[in-house]
Amino acid sequence: MSFQPDLLAWYDQHAADLPWRRSQDPYRVWLSEIMLQQTQVETVKPYFERFLEAFPTVEALAAAPLDRVLKLWEGLGYYSRARNLHTAAQMVARDFGGRFPTTVDGLLLLPGVGRYTAGAIASIAYGVRAPVLDGNVIRVFARLTDLKEDVSQTTVKDRLWKLAEDWLPDDRPGDYNQALMELGRTVCKPRNPLCTTCPIFLHCAAFNQGTQAQRPVKKARGATPHYDVAAGIIRDSGGKLLIAQRPLDGLLGGLWEFPGGKREGDETLPECLERELQEELAIQVEVGNLFTVVDHAFTHFRITLHAFECRHLSGAPQRIGVRDFAWIQESQLDDYSFGKADREVIKALQERRNMLF
Ligand code: SF4
Repeated sequence: MSFQPDLLAWYDQHAADLPWRRSQDPYRVWLSEIMLQQTQVETVKPYFERFLEAFPTVEALAAAPLDRVLKLWEGLGYYSRARNLHTAAQMVARDFGGRFPTTVDGLLLLPGVGRYTAGAIASIAYGVRAPVLDGNVIRVFARLTDLKEDVSQTTVKDRLWKLAEDWLPDDRPGDYNQALMELGRTVCKPRNPLCTTCPIFLHCAAFNQGTQAQRPVKKARGATPHYDVAAGIIRDSGGKLLIAQRPLDGLLGGLWEFPGGKREGDETLPECLERELQEELAIQVEVGNLFTVVDHAFTHFRITLHAFECRHLSGAPQRIGVRDFAWIQESQLDDYSFGKADREVIKALQERRNMLF
C-alpha cells in the first residue's frame, strides 16, 4: 500500500484554509482538536476565533473563571470538553510552566485528551510520528481495505490503530494525518463518496469491488430512549426568575437551566416538577400553564422538555441537587450559559416579550 504520496500531493493542493492551520502553536492545535471532537469544522470555526480572542494564551484560559469558559462554549455541546479544557489549561500553566507536553504519553496526562487527540497534537504541532484514528480515518481505512468486519468491535479497532501506525510516513506525519481526516470529511464521505475525484482510488479495494456504500460495516443501533422532562419558569413576587446551575460532574455539567427533571413512573408532568423542585432546591411552587415544549436529541437519548410557568410559594432555595442558583431579571438570561433546549425556552420568552412590548 503506497497511497501516501498521492494523498499528500492532493493535500498540498486542496488543504482547506482553516483558522487553526495558520500556525503550529500547540495551544491552537490543542484547542481546535478538542473543539473538533464530535463537531463539524464549519461549526467550530467561529468558536475557535472567539476563544482565541478571549483567551490568546493557555495562561489566559487557565486564569479565566469556568463560567466564562462555559459561556463561550455555549451551543457547541458536549460540555465536559469545556470543563476538561479549563482543567487542562490550569495543569499546563501550573505544572508544566505554560508549555504543552511534546510526547503522546505526556499529552495523555491532560484531561480530555485521548489517544486520537494526543496523536493529532503531537504530529501536527511537533511533527512526532504518532497515528490518529477518528471516524473519518476509520471510514477511509475500511474502504481502502474493503473491511467486512464490524468496525465498532474493539479487536477490529485495535487492528485499525495498527494500520494507522504502519501506514504513517516518516516524513510529514502531521500533514499526512490531516490529509487523511480531510479526505474522509470532503471526499470519502459517509454517503456518496466522490470516488471519481479521489486521489487514492487506485489503491482502494472497496472502489475496485464496488462496495463503498457497504463500508464501513457497523452494527445497527437500537432504538434511542426518550424521556419527558418538566422544567419550571419560576417567578418570585417581584417577577424575578429562578435559574439553577447543574452539578459539574455529569451531563451539561456547570450549565444553567430552568430547574426541573425527568418524569418518573406514571406521575404527571406537574407532579414531576413539584417533586424535582422539592428534591433539588427544597422549594414549593404552584405549577401553572404549560409555556412551551422543546424536543432535543443528545447522542444516546432524546428528551421532550415541557416548560411550565410557576409561582414560587415557599421555601428559600437550597443547593441540594444543584451547584448554585440565582434569582435574575429576564433581561439577564443571556449573561448565563444554558444548554440548547433551555436556550429554546429563552427564545420563546424573548419572543413573547417582544410581542407584548
Ligand atoms: Fe473513499 Fe472512494 Fe476514495 Fe475509496 S475511492 S477512498 S471509497 S472516496
